[in-house]
Amino acid sequence: MRTLNHNCIFCKIVLKNLPNAIIYEDEKFLAFMDKYPINHGHSLLVPKEHFKNILEMPIKEVGEMHSLVPRLAKAITSVLGSDGFNINQNNGKSANQIVPHVHVHIVPRYSIEKVRGQWPMRKIAQIKELENLAHKIRENIEGL
Ligand SMILES: [Zn+2]
Repeated sequence: MRTLNHNCIFCKIVLKNLPNAIIYEDEKFLAFMDKYPINHGHSLLVPKEHFKNILEMPIKEVGEMHSLVPRLAKAITSVLGSDGFNINQNNGKSANQIVPHVHVHIVPRYSIEKVRGQWPMRKIAQIKELENLAHKIRENIEGL
């Protein structure tokens, strides 16, 4: 039986109780488009079980989660046509972790960005737009 926290926004997404744009799913992990993307194609990978940070997670699962990252990043960058990407995994408020459920950010970066090396402003994305993008990414992951 998986541990979930019913007040947690990511647990609600895992339970499909919130609109979401899923790009990958298996028994233990779920990846979806960030609703407040830093950049076009910003995606999140989460364990389906509620862990506050990676110190609460079994080491093996931390490894499994991170080994999914290149696979997802490959599909995301090929669909979005980005030149690079950042991988970010924050633990704790002081480290800028906003949702206390482990998540890995995959943020595509584009060489045409005006200010290189700086984080663009967060935007609010339309769920329909995210769903369309998620669909393309999903197809690309399956093809790998
Ligand atoms: Zn949670």
